[in-house]
Amino acid sequence: MVYDCAVIGGGPAGLNASLVLGRGKKEVILLDDDAPRNAVTQESHNFITRDGVKPAEFREAAHADLKKYPNIVIQKDRVTDIDSAASPFRIHTEAGKDYEAKTIILATGLKDVLPDIQGIHDFYGKSLFACPFCDGWELKDIPLVYIADGEFSFHGIKMISNWNKDIVICTNGKESFSAEERDILKQKQFEVIDDEILRLQGENEQLKAILFKNGNELYKEAGFISYKMEQAAPFAERLGLELNEMGGIKTDSQGRTSIKGIYAGGDNASGPPQLIIAASEGSKAAIGVISDFVEETF
Ligand SMILES: Cc1cc2nc3c(=O)[nH]c(=O)nc-3n(C[C@H](O)[C@H](O)[C@H](O)COP(=O)(O)OP(=O)(O)OC[C@H]3O[C@@H](n4cnc5c(N)ncnc54)[C@H](O)[C@@H]3O)c2cc1C
Repeated sequence: MVYDCAVIGGGPAGLNASLVLGRGKKEVILLDDDAPRNAVTQESHNFITRDGVKPAEFREAAHADLKKYPNIVIQKDRVTDIDSAASPFRIHTEAGKDYEAKTIILATGLKDVLPDIQGIHDFYGKSLFACPFCDGWELKDIPLVYIADGEFSFHGIKMISNWNKDIVICTNGKESFSAEERDILKQKQFEVIDDEILRLQGENEQLKAILFKNGNELYKEAGFISYKMEQAAPFAERLGLELNEMGGIKTDSQGRTSIKGIYAGGDNASGPPQLIIAASEGSKAAIGVISDFVEETF
C-alpha cells in the first residue's frame, strides 16, 4: 500500500500531525521507535489541560485519540533510511520493512548531549534539569547548582534567574563564559566554582552533592545544567535539507522543507523546545500536507 503520508517520530509533533492527517481522511503510517527526549522526566508542564502529566500517560492518551481513526496505522519501528529520489518515497526500517508514502513528515525531535560528568545521567530529569520553563516552578525555592557547559551557559543562567537567584555555578574547569559575562555574574553576586568535577553523588535519583577532583564538596539537592542538543535522526543531513539559523530543519509556516513532499515539525525544526509548540508544529505540517494534496487534485 502507498500511504498518503508517513510520519516519522511519535512525540507530540508526530502525534498531532497524525491526528490532523487522519481526520483529514489521509492514509497515515506513524513510525516511532519510542525513545522520546523527555522520557527521563517524571512530569511535564506548560501544556494546558495536561500540566503535570507523566510523559508515558501523555503518549497513551494520544495513542487512544489516534486509534479512533482506522486510516492511521501506528508502527513501533526505527526508520533507518529514506529514499527521497523514489516516487513514492521509500522508507526502510530497522525491522527490515519497507514502506511507500507520497509525503513524509519528519518529527524525529532532538537528543540531549549532556556534559561528560560521572553520575549526571542518574539525576537528569529527576533532580537536575535543563529547561527552567519546564521545571523552574518546582525549583524556585531550593538552593541550586548550575553546571555550565558550552556557549549557551550565560543565556541559561539569565533565564533560570527568573525563577531562582540562589545558584552556585560550576564550570567544571571549562571556559563557558567570556570575561564580560564573568564580570556580570560577579556583579550579580553569583558564586562561580571553576574546580573540575569528579562526580555527582546522591541516591534514588536525588542529587546530594557535587564532588570535585581537589576533594572539595558542594551540597545541593537540585539544579540545572546547560548542554548541547543534536538532531535525533540523521535525515536532515542525509537528504541535504536546508537548515535554519538554529541548526533545525528549515520550513515554511506549514512545515514544507526544501524538498517537495517532505515536511518537518517539532524540536527538529524550530522551537523553543516545548511539548505544546512541537504539537502545534506537527499540526501545521499536517495542514501543509493536506493543503498541497488539495492544490494538486482540486
Ligand atoms: C528532561 C526534559 C524535560 C522536559 N520537560 C518539558 C516540560 O515540562 N514541558 C514541555 O513543554 N516540554 C518539556 N520538554 C521538551 C519536550 O520534551 C520537547 O519539546 C518535545 O518532546 C518535542 O517534541 P517532538 O515531537 O518534536 O520530539 P520528541 O518528543 O523527542 O519525539 C521524537 C520521537 O521521534 C522518535 N524518533 C527519532 N528518530 C526516529 C527514527 N529514526 N525512526 C523512528 N522514530 C524516531 C523518537 O523515538 C521520539 O519518540 C522537556 C525535555 C526534556 C529533555
